[in-house]
Amino acid sequence: MAKIKKIALEEHFMTPGFQSYSKSYQQHLEPHVFEQLAQALTDFDEIRLGEMDRAGIDMVILSQTGPGVQAELDTPTAIVRARESNDFLAEQVSRHPTRYAGFACLPMQDPNAAANELERTVTQLGFKGAMVNGHTNGVYLDDPSYDVFWEKMQALDVPLYLHPTDPSQPLIAAEGHPELAGATWGWGVETGTHALRILFSGVFDRFPKLKLILGHMGEALPFLRWRFDSRFEAYPHGIKLQKRPSEYFGSNILITTSGVCSPAALVGAIAEMGAESVMFSVDFPYESTDVAAEFIENAPLDEETRNLVCHGNAERIFKL
Ligand code: MN
Repeated sequence: MAKIKKIALEEHFMTPGFQSYSKSYQQHLEPHVFEQLAQALTDFDEIRLGEMDRAGIDMVILSQTGPGVQAELDTPTAIVRARESNDFLAEQVSRHPTRYAGFACLPMQDPNAAANELERTVTQLGFKGAMVNGHTNGVYLDDPSYDVFWEKMQALDVPLYLHPTDPSQPLIAAEGHPELAGATWGWGVETGTHALRILFSGVFDRFPKLKLILGHMGEALPFLRWRFDSRFEAYPHGIKLQKRPSEYFGSNILITTSGVCSPAALVGAIAEMGAESVMFSVDFPYESTDVAAEFIENAPLDEETRNLVCHGNAERIFKL
């Protein structure tokens, strides 16, 4: 059986010299796992294209693995290295232009510099948007200083993929449970909360055309849309939004299936978000391409919905 065409959006690489930025989570890996990941992250040929071919993935939008330059404490250095990383990525994309596209990494320490680098990468390098790895040295994207950045995103009409990172402060409820602090639970809480900060601070009211993409089946947020409306109405704390919280999902907030290969969760997310707001992704090389592909090929979806999730939505949203 021919595999259905797929486009994947949370597919990572490592820019030469960026390894130290990822130490916080890579140091917890077994040495042989680390070695395998390092190989896959720095490969742009046999390993990556081989997996894509096997899984029927036509195209991936590549992103520097987190947190990248956002972990840099010196802002001028972050600005320079983001530029270097984006130029490196553009070079790799140009070697396989029908298979690869790029997300910018941005020096979020300086919202103006981030806006400028976004514009440079989109207009000059042909990038499709940006991937931002959560907060930057404790500053979240609802900070008013980022309005200049959102304005640029909206003007360029490209999405922002909000990717997990370590919380700015350890999650107190997970104290004594390092197994919960990271990818198993803590990153989802951190990233879901970050997205809600953006929503409830009115960013989407000020910039109504913004598109924010969440991985990992929407970091569990789709399943709580009803409750966001009900409890926000009961406890608004003086906050006013132009729409009900649930209505920003599927319009401003889109999701991918990265790292959640559960048919039941997929069907539920589509029911909450709409078939045009859910997109296939793998999270290469941290998740298995084969498992993700088999999951989406066999999920209980009608043909039209499967085509939208696998490639149609990405083609429309990224103008591919
Ligand atoms: Mn990822």
